[in-house]
Amino acid sequence: MYTGNELREMFLKFFESKGHKRLPSASLIPKDDPTLLLTVAGMVPFKPYFMRKVEPPFPRATTAQKCVRTPDLESVGITARHHTFFEMLGNFSFGDYFKSEVIPWAWEYVAEVLKIPVEKLWITVHPEDEEARKLWMEKAGVQAERILNDPENLWAAGPVGPCGYCSEIYVDLGVERGCGKPDCAVGCDCDRFLEIWNLVFMQYNRDENGMLTPLPKQNIDTGMGLERIAAVMQGVATNFDTDLFRPIIDKVAELAGVQYHVDAKTDVALKVVADHTRAVSFMLSDGIRPGSDGRGYVLRRILRRAIRYARLLGIDKPFLETVFKIIQRDYGHHYPELTENENFILNHLRLEEKNFQATLEQGTQLLQDKVKSLQEAGETVLSGADAFYLYETYGFPVELTEEMLAEQGLTVDMASYETAAEEHRRLAKEQSQQMRAVQESAAIGERAKALGTTQFDGYEVLEEKVKI
Ligand code: ATP
Ligand code: MG
Ligand code: MG
Ligand code: MG
Repeated sequence: MYTGNELREMFLKFFESKGHKRLPSASLIPKDDPTLLLTVAGMVPFKPYFMRKVEPPFPRATTAQKCVRTPDLESVGITARHHTFFEMLGNFSFGDYFKSEVIPWAWEYVAEVLKIPVEKLWITVHPEDEEARKLWMEKAGVQAERILNDPENLWAAGPVGPCGYCSEIYVDLGVERGCGKPDCAVGCDCDRFLEIWNLVFMQYNRDENGMLTPLPKQNIDTGMGLERIAAVMQGVATNFDTDLFRPIIDKVAELAGVQYHVDAKTDVALKVVADHTRAVSFMLSDGIRPGSDGRGYVLRRILRRAIRYARLLGIDKPFLETVFKIIQRDYGHHYPELTENENFILNHLRLEEKNFQATLEQGTQLLQDKVKSLQEAGETVLSGADAFYLYETYGFPVELTEEMLAEQGLTVDMASYETAAEEHRRLAKEQSQQMRAVQESAAIGERAKALGTTQFDGYEVLEEKVKI
């Protein structure tokens, strides 16, 4: 059985053997890219090469890239395959090779190197991408009936810019893992057909009018989730049962004094705490600081969600440091920033945990009281002002309040929340301007004192001049 570490290494070695330069993962903070808060895919650090803003220093590269996807946050622990933080294995061609090379290589890797039985593998292509379908059949030798159409197999970095068709590889994990619906097939949202690899063929430029024109240089960008391929290769039910996750889950379970794989609800909480602690450890290791906006807010939100789920498990003492140590032990050799930045990571973990644990109980109690009075009044919507109060006073990110309410069939009035937040920002800005004015005049006073008393005679001089 391959470990997660071995699987990461095998992928990188395979593409090195195909002439790719191995590069370390880039930071979770995208460099010079104001359009992105966090690195969401392996291609992100290479965008300047793909767009030819910078001449690529080598034609091919392979990486295991750290990624964070906040839109997947609420799927964590619910599906078998989604994390907030995960590692994406990828191979990239910057105007070098294209479809006819990458398709047979991908097949070679899954069918011959990993030896996934071909009767479990499925391919999807865009219905108009006849070229890819033909290559899968003729160059990779895949049977025609295993290649399915998916009109969503179109990939773009944004509404304008490089784009192209893509092709995905799925593994059928068996009928017993499916939802049992008669139409359960590739693309079903249940856990039976697992998407493991996406191959993107960047071949067009899309302009403002939606017109596609062929790019002068065609690119390849692929992404395979390490945790997913580990789950397949280790024959376990979810990503969380791989060796990349089990030690973290086991530590959380130990701290909570609960057993994994006994109760479904407990398992969700264990997975959330393990996933989120891993995510915040990596985010901190790249120098992201918890804060009230941008990526700092994302970090804080994930961290506070981890603490809340830990509380649901019965953990009411600080736990993040203990769990971080397991993550550092298991990932530190490949990601030295977990060790190099240990002090920064621990300081923030401790501080955030201390602050939020102190208010979580009170905030939860207050929210419960609100819920009760809303229910008694036959209402289902919490006012934006109340949600904002929970944020301001108890540090509840509004998304957390929304989630806690949803568990009881209630919602937040988001429009009035935004108004309350906006009003708060306006007041804070005003206050800080006033503060600055006060500080400045105090500073001027200090300076005047230091200089001694000099008569201010500017106007007289001016008047004299005017007189002349
Ligand atoms: P899904 O449909 O399962 O949400 P996706 O189509 O959004 O996946 P891509 O954007 O194609 O994923 O990313 C490439 C690969 O990265 C996926 O095939 C998968 O192996 C992996 N991946 C994507 N999102 C996640 C996630 N949240 N957690 C773990 N692995 C992921
Ligand atoms: Mg997705
Ligand atoms: Mg998908
Ligand atoms: Mg995909």
